[in-house]
Amino acid sequence: MSFSLHGIPVSRGIAIGRAYLIAPAALDVDHYLVEPPQIEGEIERFRAALKAVQSELERLSEDLSADAPSEVGAFINVHTMILNDAMLVQETMDLIRTRRYNVEWALTEQLERLSRHFDDIEDEYLRERKADVQQVVERILKALAGASSAAALVDGANGDARDEMIVVAHDISPADMLQFKTQTFQGFVTDLGGRTSHTAIVARSLGIPAAVGVAHASALIRQDDLIIVDGDHGIVIVDPAPIVLEEYSYRQSEKLLEQKKLQRLKFSPTQTLCGTKISLLANIELPEDARAAVEAGAVGVGLFRTEFLFMNHKDRLPEEEEQFEAYKRAVELMGGLPVTIRTIDVGADKPLDAIGAEGYESAPNPALGLRAIRWSLSEPQMFLTQLRAILRASAFGQVRILVPMLAHAQEIDQTLDLIREAKRQLDDAGLPYDPGVRIGAMIEIPAAAIALPLFLKRVDFLSIGTNDLIQYTLAIDRADNAVAHLYDPLHPAVLHLIAFTLREAKRAGVSVSVCGEMAGDPQLTRLLLGMGLTEFSMHPSQLLVVKQEILRANLPMLEKPVADVLAAFEPEEVQAALRCLGQV
Ligand code: PEP
Ligand code: MG
Repeated sequence: MSFSLHGIPVSRGIAIGRAYLIAPAALDVDHYLVEPPQIEGEIERFRAALKAVQSELERLSEDLSADAPSEVGAFINVHTMILNDAMLVQETMDLIRTRRYNVEWALTEQLERLSRHFDDIEDEYLRERKADVQQVVERILKALAGASSAAALVDGANGDARDEMIVVAHDISPADMLQFKTQTFQGFVTDLGGRTSHTAIVARSLGIPAAVGVAHASALIRQDDLIIVDGDHGIVIVDPAPIVLEEYSYRQSEKLLEQKKLQRLKFSPTQTLCGTKISLLANIELPEDARAAVEAGAVGVGLFRTEFLFMNHKDRLPEEEEQFEAYKRAVELMGGLPVTIRTIDVGADKPLDAIGAEGYESAPNPALGLRAIRWSLSEPQMFLTQLRAILRASAFGQVRILVPMLAHAQEIDQTLDLIREAKRQLDDAGLPYDPGVRIGAMIEIPAAAIALPLFLKRVDFLSIGTNDLIQYTLAIDRADNAVAHLYDPLHPAVLHLIAFTLREAKRAGVSVSVCGEMAGDPQLTRLLLGMGLTEFSMHPSQLLVVKQEILRANLPMLEKPVADVLAAFEPEEVQAALRCLGQV
């Protein structure tokens, strides 16, 4: 039966493919009693499935590329250990023998029991292993059903099948989403999430169509269902009628053609019709993403979200050497172009596994708690380690340090003190770095924008983080789909804060960029240009479509309509002014 679901569009384009469910719904299994003579046969079926999963994990491990994140290897080891654990294997076999449950029933029953144990465990690390056990059980169930597995998806030999898959999940953590960077899928659909949640941001960086906040998608869509994801409108069509499929296939080929045409812009200089030069920079999460940045023609990295290097580290944070190698790698891949490395920005929807209960996660409201620079300043040794690693990378190219979530003068001053201390430590150790490395601040808390002189006096550059600026101005959790309809980049309060920051920074001669998702939205390019923005930082996949808008823009002609947008407060007036801006 064909039906459609509606959610929040987060990554443009049309995907058509088979659903690959990563959801507890996969645990919905048949329940029946096995006749006594068939019990040993049932045990054999279980053994065969265990063996299949074992080979699947071995294949996964062999196929890991040399530059795959070390956590991917670690998760395969954990899954292998669970697969051989008596608590899972022996107890399941006992249930088959004593209660005569079929394998699937016995296995999910045992999972239930183990899950209850896990819920009672105080230790955060051990409690989190529940998800691993669940994933291993899902693998075994898939092997029993003969369905395609995650391992098959990453297996090069099955590349064609993988290319047709659309991932459907209740929710995907930013860390898990990161692991999809090593695989190729057609698209993503999740039940939860907001437009600028970090899961959505990573999905967008993959450059494939995605919709989040599609309520109940993972419960309503079944494994291998044919689905269409309309990433422009956040619509998911399940089991489409032939005529609908034909229409979307046509739209998909049109879009592919458009993307191909955009490639022609890659080598042309980025300037407006009136000749103003604009810098297009890239946002990256991992050093290897720098390749896509260069490929898309970025003139540097405007935001390296280093917290992604810290995720998936279960029991410790990355050491100085490991961090240094990662930062240096990004710098080298950028081949002399500037790389803006943001210090760790954890908290809210980017939790760290290694910190656990004693960190910010137990805070009553993590988005307003000890996150980003606040956490860094409360952990000076961790922060100094990161600062030394970043500074050391500056000996290999142009590095700039960017600090997230600053609001108070003393936070800026303490940060600058710690940077000086990190330099002193490197001097003592005789390690090279660029002494003139530039220090910048994210403007992503309304207080920072309003008290801008505090920043203009103290730092070398600014970068406006519109994702958080919107969240904190409007008091809307950016990851909560229940309030996603109120998350509005065009709210007059947000526009005023951005315009004010751009104007004042320009007046003070301090360079300023926008690195939030607004910078990569082609529908907002004219507005930002008209407000005076000349540095845009976005995911490489957005770069050419934004560039196209810039090439068509004429700044003097944008002045009046942008002033009208900023003078408007009533929603209809804002919309009318935006329509005029669109027609210029
Ligand atoms: C922002 O807040 O706009 C930003 C770029 O940082 P992040 O999305 O990582 O919070
Ligand atoms: Mg932010």
